Amino acid sequence: MSVFYEQLERDYKIHKETIKIMEEAYQLCQPHFEKIVEKVDLNQYKVLRAFQNNNISDFHLNGSTGYGYGDQGRDSLEKVYANVFRAEKALVRSQIVSGTHAIAIALMGNLKSGDEVVSATGCPYDTLLKVIGVHGEDGSLIQSGVKYKEIPLTKEKGIDINNVCSSISDKTKMVIFQRSKGYAWRPSFSIETLQSAIKAVKNKFPQVICMVDNCYGEFVEEQEPIEVGADIIAGSLIKNPGGGIALTGGYLAGKEYLIEQVALRLTAPGIGLDVGSSLNFNRPAYQGLFVAPHVVGEALKGAILAAKYFELLEYPVLPLYNESRTDIIQAIELQSRKLMVAFCRGIQRACPLDSNVSPEPALLPGYTDEVIMAGGTFIQGSSIELSADGPIRPPYIIYIQGGMSLSHIKTGLIFAAEEIRKIKG
Ligand SMILES: *Cc1c(COP(=O)(O)O)cnc(C)c1O
Repeated sequence: MSVFYEQLERDYKIHKETIKIMEEAYQLCQPHFEKIVEKVDLNQYKVLRAFQNNNISDFHLNGSTGYGYGDQGRDSLEKVYANVFRAEKALVRSQIVSGTHAIAIALMGNLKSGDEVVSATGCPYDTLLKVIGVHGEDGSLIQSGVKYKEIPLTKEKGIDINNVCSSISDKTKMVIFQRSKGYAWRPSFSIETLQSAIKAVKNKFPQVICMVDNCYGEFVEEQEPIEVGADIIAGSLIKNPGGGIALTGGYLAGKEYLIEQVALRLTAPGIGLDVGSSLNFNRPAYQGLFVAPHVVGEALKGAILAAKYFELLEYPVLPLYNESRTDIIQAIELQSRKLMVAFCRGIQRACPLDSNVSPEPALLPGYTDEVIMAGGTFIQGSSIELSADGPIRPPYIIYIQGGMSLSHIKTGLIFAAEEIRKIKG
């Protein structure tokens, strides 16, 4: 046993069996870690080139105040993002409060009363249901006169592209795809899968806007959705592209005319992109983007390790450790509320901040079921840092993601498994 494991056993009374299984899982994962490194190399190079192409310099890292007129740091950051995602234009702002907000303004900026939006990937992420307004929520799309259609996934949990295409009418303005599984037990949709689905829509309906919720997908594969035909993408800076360093914010990237509509919605008509002070947002946003490919690589290795470890512990996992990935999420079916709470207690125990608190299920704004969340993170709610969460509902699936170093994720997994062992014996 290595000194690291000996110290864990000594300091935290971790059971020998919990450690032995981790040693085994880690060995089995080694060849798969190698493949991650190749992707990190490519994405790191992509980001480096985007910085250099835009001549980013020390002064770009400073922020502006007030209206933020002529904020070159802000404007260049958006050029770097546009370059990284191969988009005409990007909007990257601290005033975008979350991933949900980024997606919401993509929809609200580009849909008006009478337009129709089709979800091609079944039920969207929990918080988006309220944005769409499936229960008539105040301020929602449906309340403002937008029509919504949801195309369920096939029995095999794939995109039902024939059904998507046949549901498109002359009122359909936008089709939305969700790359990551979110809180669903389904495979995440790879860039290749998104490519063929978008192509099928565009072949028949070239005028329909294809939007991808890119949350958790950034820098996992070699390409991003715009490169395979998406018109607009959105995501959160406290997930992958912020690299765990960005303090807050969201981004959108895509066709210029779409991004401009979004900007009018984010700020105000007549103002759009040209205002918005960056305060102290720019420096960490640049640095976070720069380290993001590496950090995503660590998170991916951690997800692979989580898959193998919990598979050895005899829980259903999705994806399997040796399956290809398009996001950083690892789902583990724990089969009871008690074990979800125990798992989260273990993850929390391994965090650098608030390691002494015990996560409890609670109702959160935007969610329908109670949710449990673990993550003693430097950035509040950051899920590119090591974190675990999930809605408390059968079959009690915990979603683990993030972690800025594989070593830390490994420690977290051992603690989570140990909490479960204490309950199950
Ligand atoms: C996290 C997430 C969102 C929403 O992001 P928040 O920042 O939590 O609002 C939307 N879609 C998917 C797939 C996500 O993972």
